[in-house]
Amino acid sequence: MSLSDPAARMLTVDADCRATGPVELRPRTPLLRRHLAALEVGGRPVEALDLFDWRVPAVDGHARFAYRFDLDAAAADDGSMDGARRFGRTVVAPLRTWLLAPAADGAELRLRFEAPRGGAVLTGLSPADPRPVRAVANPPAPPAVRLRANDLAYGGYALLGTFRSYDFTLPASPQAPGEGPARITLGLPDPPFALSDEELLRWVIRSAEVVAGYWDGMPTRRSLFVLAPEPMSGGVMFGRVRGGGGTTGFISLGEFTEREQLYRSWELIHEMMHLGNPFLRDGFWFMEGFATYAEPVARARAGWRSAEDVWAEFLRGMPRGLAAMTGGRMGGRGIDTVYWGGALFMLLADVAIRVQSSNRLGLEDCMRAVLSSGGDAAHRWRLDQALAACDRATGGGAVSRLVQRHIHSAHPLDLEALWRDLGVIGDGDGVTLVDDAPLAAIRRAITGTAGGPKVGPPREG
Ligand SMILES: [Zn+2]
Repeated sequence: MSLSDPAARMLTVDADCRATGPVELRPRTPLLRRHLAALEVGGRPVEALDLFDWRVPAVDGHARFAYRFDLDAAAADDGSMDGARRFGRTVVAPLRTWLLAPAADGAELRLRFEAPRGGAVLTGLSPADPRPVRAVANPPAPPAVRLRANDLAYGGYALLGTFRSYDFTLPASPQAPGEGPARITLGLPDPPFALSDEELLRWVIRSAEVVAGYWDGMPTRRSLFVLAPEPMSGGVMFGRVRGGGGTTGFISLGEFTEREQLYRSWELIHEMMHLGNPFLRDGFWFMEGFATYAEPVARARAGWRSAEDVWAEFLRGMPRGLAAMTGGRMGGRGIDTVYWGGALFMLLADVAIRVQSSNRLGLEDCMRAVLSSGGDAAHRWRLDQALAACDRATGGGAVSRLVQRHIHSAHPLDLEALWRDLGVIGDGDGVTLVDDAPLAAIRRAITGTAGGPKVGPPREG
C-alpha cells in the first residue's frame, strides 16, 4: 500500500490474498466504508454484496484487489484518535480505519507500505520475516509486517504521512512473550511541541524505566507510543492503549506542556502498565484497577513519589470504589467502579498474596504469571484465564477467593480496619505511616520505605 503524498491525503492499497475460493471483504468500521473509493479487481469495479461486504474472486490461488482510502476526508469527518485524526502533515488512525481485509478470521495479512520521499507509515506490527534477508532489489523493498485478520478490529494505532520517530531499547521482562530486548518507538506527529523532541523522548524513556522496574523489565518486546499534540493547551490529558497485532498507545499532550507537567502526570505510566495485561472484555475493572493501583506503586518504588504521598492518594481514592465492591456491582462501567473499585480490589489482592506467602510474593507475581502465559496487551483473554494463571503462580487461591467475595457476590469490607492494620493514618491532606502496625511490613514491601520526593523523578543526573 502506498501514500499519495507526504501529507497522507490518500492511501492506495494493492492487496494479494492467498485463497482457493472467493474472498469476502468486510470493513471493520463505518469510517472505512464511507471513505473507501474505487475498489477494483483487475481494473474493474467490484459490486458490493450488501451495504457492508464485497466478494472478490480467486484466480490461480490468489485473490487480488485494489482500493483507495481518502485519509484526508476520513480525518475531517471523524477527527478522533480512534477513527482518524490529522496533525499537520500526519494522520493518526488505527489499522481498522483504513485496512480492508478478508472476513475470514484465520487469515494472516502481510502488509508492505510505500510512500513518496519524506512520508512514511509506522505501525506497532511485527516484521513478517523475523530475520529478513538482505534486500537485493534496487531500491530495496520496504520490509513487510504481519497481522492476523481477527486482530484487525482491535489493531493498534498507526502514523501516516510526515512525522518524527525515535527508537530506544530497554531490557525486556523475562516473562514477556518473544525474544530479545524491548524496543519502544516514540512517534511524534508533524507539528512540534514547545518542548524539544529530546526532552519528550527523555520523559518517555524514564517513564518506561519506571514501568520496567515494576515488571522486572518491559512487559512487551515491541511497542509504539504516539504523543498527540493538543493545540492551544498545556499538560497531559489522557491516553489509551490498543494492542491487536502489536501493542501501541497514545498520550494526548498539550502543545505548550512544560517539563514539570510531564513528570507530575500519571497517564503515560498508567498506559504503559496496560502493556503487560491482556485485554479482558469481561474484566474492565481488572485491567483499569491494576493500572490505577500499580502506577503510583511503581513511581514510589522508582523514587519518583514518596510512600506517604501514594498512601494518601489511596486513602482518598479507594473509598470511591467501596460501594461497587461491597454491593456486587463490579460489572458496571462508571469511573468509580472500574478505576477505584478495581484499584481497591488490587490493593486487597496485593495484601492477601503477601499475607498468604509471608510477604515473599505480591501482586506483581500474579501479573507476571499472566504475562508469562502469553497475556500481554496484544492478546484478548477471559478474566478466568487471568485468574487461573495468577492463582497458579501465587498458590493458595487468595485472588480467586477475593473474586468470589467481591465480584461474584456482595460482601462487606472494613476499609478503616485495613488502613489501621497497614499503619496508614490520615493526617489532614496527608498520612502518617506507623511502623508497628500489624501489616506495616507488607505496606513497606508495596511502596518501599518512607521518604523520597513529593512528585517527579529524582534529580536529573
Ligand atoms: Zn487505563
